[in-house]
Amino acid sequence: MQFNTKTIHSGQQPEETSGAVMPPVFFTSTYAQEAPNVHKGHEYARVTNPTRTALEKMLAGLEDARYACAFASGCAAMDALLKMLRPGDHVIATNDIYGGSYRLFKEVFEPYGIRFSFVDMSTIENIRSGFTPDTKMVWIETPTNPLLNIVDIAATADEARKRNAVTVVDNTFASPALQLPLNLGADAVVHSTTKYLGGHSDLIGGAVCTSHDAIYENLTFQTKTTGAVPGPMDCYLALRGIKTLALRVQRSCENARMIADFLKDHPKTGDVKYPGHTDHPGHETARSQMKDFGAMVSFSLKQDDIGTAQRFMSNTSLFTLAESLGGVESLISHPASMTHASIPKEVREEAGLKDSLIRLSVGIEDLDDLKEDLQKALESL
Ligand SMILES: *Cc1c(COP(=O)(O)O)cnc(C)c1O
Repeated sequence: MQFNTKTIHSGQQPEETSGAVMPPVFFTSTYAQEAPNVHKGHEYARVTNPTRTALEKMLAGLEDARYACAFASGCAAMDALLKMLRPGDHVIATNDIYGGSYRLFKEVFEPYGIRFSFVDMSTIENIRSGFTPDTKMVWIETPTNPLLNIVDIAATADEARKRNAVTVVDNTFASPALQLPLNLGADAVVHSTTKYLGGHSDLIGGAVCTSHDAIYENLTFQTKTTGAVPGPMDCYLALRGIKTLALRVQRSCENARMIADFLKDHPKTGDVKYPGHTDHPGHETARSQMKDFGAMVSFSLKQDDIGTAQRFMSNTSLFTLAESLGGVESLISHPASMTHASIPKEVREEAGLKDSLIRLSVGIEDLDDLKEDLQKALESL
């Protein structure tokens, strides 16, 4: 089955009792048993729910995985994966990582004795030098947030495998419509389904996809035991969103490409970070591991200060100032005063995160309207 077909049919069948073509939303906490332990496959809804099972089968299909496990949020999915580790274990993670991942690593897991190194993964030499004898996991984000650096998944997974470490890829930014990390050698893929998979900014959800029996068993043990499971309505919304994933991502990528070109040529902008530009340092790697270059574009302003960036953002009207990404609507955010405000200015700038850096999540609106919105805001500076 090819990708567009998968987004409609993967793991989905008409419901048995009524023939409903859409998965019913099973609002129930428990299931009747004919005799103790004799039942139709479900006992209690923390463990399984048919709407959640339909979503998990879909997600596994999309990521070319044998299994998927759905969680209440992307953070809950990451939390479950990290709980496979034990005190003394070491993790190598991408340095330009989602702020919520950084907080989870540093403030929840480090106090339990798990150690993290944050490495600039743009070269394989850097990754190699990050390994210690205790490294059990390599955590990749690509493209990164908000600088849109690219990490070579296959080469990194190769290095990890040689040292018996597990490779995890946070595939939230690319989505399976553009990038399939398990086929490149990763062991597990983590998602915030809140973003492109859901696609409509109307739910919070997460998932882990894997083809390893041991990882899957660990995850299902955890959902049963710690209970960070999504409700049936959110599972339904995620499934509904996924049906248009390929169309939405294709359109958003087309818009993003044209917007990146427009910004690059504009006299009031500084550098434009977009992996689709041939002078982007990760362009060739992105080309080889992604189907398109994604719909996130970051750029700085020629007048590089926080005040100018804020003035720019207050003058856009279609691009809504908000955190998050991956929905049908275009969003704009300012990392230096929003998601990355807690990082000291020197540290931010060392990583290339300028004061005026602006991040766009490009939606599926008409390109001319989006360009006009940005043009007006740039003229106002
Ligand atoms: C949003 C996000 C998460 C966290 O997901 P939630 O659903 O908000 O918990 C993790 N990784 C990336 C890259 C994200 O963008």
